[in-house]
Amino acid sequence: MTHISTNSPYPENRRILVTGAAGFLGSHLCERLLADGNGIDVLGVDNLYSGTKYNIAHLEADPRFEFMRHDVTFPLHVEVDEIYNLACPASPIHYQFDPVQTVKTSVHGAINMLGLAKRTRSRILQASTSEVYGDPSISPQQEAYWGNVNPIGPRACYDEGKRCAETLFFDYHRQHGLDTRVIRIFNTYGPRMHPNDGRVVSNFVIQALRGEPISIYGDGSQTRSFCYVDDLIDGMVAYMRHEAGGPGPINLGNPAEITILELASTIIEMTGSRSELEFHPLPQDDPLQRRPDITKARETLNWEPKVPLVTGLTRTIDYFDQLLSRMDHVAVAAE
Ligand code: NAD
Ligand code: UDP
Ligand code: UDP
Repeated sequence: MTHISTNSPYPENRRILVTGAAGFLGSHLCERLLADGNGIDVLGVDNLYSGTKYNIAHLEADPRFEFMRHDVTFPLHVEVDEIYNLACPASPIHYQFDPVQTVKTSVHGAINMLGLAKRTRSRILQASTSEVYGDPSISPQQEAYWGNVNPIGPRACYDEGKRCAETLFFDYHRQHGLDTRVIRIFNTYGPRMHPNDGRVVSNFVIQALRGEPISIYGDGSQTRSFCYVDDLIDGMVAYMRHEAGGPGPINLGNPAEITILELASTIIEMTGSRSELEFHPLPQDDPLQRRPDITKARETLNWEPKVPLVTGLTRTIDYFDQLLSRMDHVAVAAE
């Protein structure tokens, strides 16, 4: 018999599931949700494929936080009220390492989390991506744009996996009446990015701090628009809590667009590095431009990024500076 206590110390509890909790964005999201108040319990699920327990080690002392090692491609039976589905490797190096697993994570993972949401009648948010626009032929990218994606290239496991996950979110919404939310995240950076996942901000910062050559792919004229992690998490949580918000999709990112060469020179200047530029071939299907149109997020959520690039980069450089000192310290101790 199910016993329902009438003396629960936390009668207003909301049990929130975060998949991909040990990753870059997931760890910041868990931290943010726990900081929001006593009535919130967070269950973090992750298979530690591209994330690490160090990202959430500081949360484990909090009795409202629980970590479960689990792969979302397998069913998950837990009792929750809200689901943020972030599980999926996000950097080209990580998602191309085992492309079949990447597709399974996006597609089977979405089916399982949607099945869980259906059973528990939970609101569920999908962390989708600007990659659904592929190499876009319009700029800035609006949600109404259908994209320009190569379905058989090396990025397809990620791009098409995420596109299919979006399809599933909209079909569960239409077919089963689920309260679903799809956000399309544009390049986001900040502390706790994985030092070896090859993303441009972490690569350039680490190379600059070490005085190593800065690896520019192509001629560096391709553009991206970088959003600081705190801004992104604010937008994500605001959208999840917006009563009339679903089903999306909604772009979340910073519309300030720069070339990769400009990013390199900004980081070299900020770190006072003597690193030189080193040019490498542009990876296949690497989008030449990317910039979000965030009109919808501005109007629906009253949200827009607040942290300028130089402020966000200062925090990111500090983080990697400390991380590299710790790593060097460990390496010296091991000699
Ligand atoms: P990340 O690699 O740091 O985090 C992803 C987490 O998911 C990792 O901890 C990884 O171990 C976990 N994971 C992977 N496969 C899993 C599986 N099968 N089962 C359980 N856990 C699994 O990447 P991130 O930057 O934090 O990205 C989080 C989400 O946001 C991803 O879905 C990503 O596609 C999306 N996103 C991120 C960005 C960005 O710029 N950071 C941009 C667009 C979309
Ligand atoms: N599922 C899950 N947790 C649950 C409920 C369902 O992981 O609490 C999985 C389930 O194993 C199934 C998927 O979600 O593979 C989709 O569930 P749904 O009920 O939509 O479809 P069905 O079970 O009818 O295939
Ligand atoms: N890039 C680069 N040098 C690097 C890593 C990335 O020039 O060391 C380029 C990459 O080719 C792309 C951009 O920077 O044009 C952003 O790459 P990232 O992998 O961070 O994200 P995504 O391509 O998924 O937007």
